[in-house]
Amino acid sequence: MLTIHSLWKSFGDNVVLRGVDLEVSQHEVVSLIGASGSGKSTLLRCVNLLETPDDGTIHLDGEEITDPRADVDAVRKRFGTVFQAFNLFPHMTVMDNITLAPRQVHRVGRAQAEQEAHDLLRRFGLADKAGAYPDRLSGGQQQRVAIIRALATKPRVMLLDEVTSALDPMLVVEVLAIIRELKESGMTMILTTHEMSFCRDISDTVCFLDGGVLLEKGPPEKIFTEPEHERTRAFLSSVL
Ligand code: ADP
Ligand code: MG
Repeated sequence: MLTIHSLWKSFGDNVVLRGVDLEVSQHEVVSLIGASGSGKSTLLRCVNLLETPDDGTIHLDGEEITDPRADVDAVRKRFGTVFQAFNLFPHMTVMDNITLAPRQVHRVGRAQAEQEAHDLLRRFGLADKAGAYPDRLSGGQQQRVAIIRALATKPRVMLLDEVTSALDPMLVVEVLAIIRELKESGMTMILTTHEMSFCRDISDTVCFLDGGVLLEKGPPEKIFTEPEHERTRAFLSSVL
């Protein structure tokens, strides 16, 4: 469904991605792990074209989205992206945050957008928060709304970058539960996380990035118990 081939990205002299190859199948959950600065966020940002790769290609559903003639806005609509900091619009209610993109970008009518938002809020235990402003919500609730907002656009792939890193440990659990539910519903996802036990539990494939090189990938049992590379082993022993 998503094929990344020989992706290179530099910022000035800093070569951040060095020929990354990765294939993601429909319904697959792929985790990117690696030290801070290894290029995980940059890889996600290249996938949804927030960054322009220097070289290499990305195909989504058979279409080359890195083709200079590709419609960047149309491509971005097919990804749902959630970052570490919950970027909810503070002056809008939860309902308006969720329905903004469906209504303005995807041209869904208000009634339908609100109905779908209510269904999502109910599904994720936030039905009573539709009229609340973000500052009335806990960090975990805000991040759940941010995930719902991304889901409301019916993305092909969800990209989740350290979505629990800014949260108190108590609130991490409720956000991880949402991601688990998404996996069970068949959502295709690429995520980065520091939560290694969660990563091991939820991922179909774990990719270890080392200085912009995708050094090793495989099923979690393999990566976490018998990695091929000494550097993967060293990273894991530093975080586990
Ligand atoms: P990770 O998510 O694994 O911590 P990043 O992809 O955020 O790694 O960063 C990889 C490298 O790219 C770092 O050296 C970082 O400083 C650099 N970098 C990331 N984004 C930018 C940017 N917009 N401008 C310049 N350098 C950047
Ligand atoms: Mg990052």
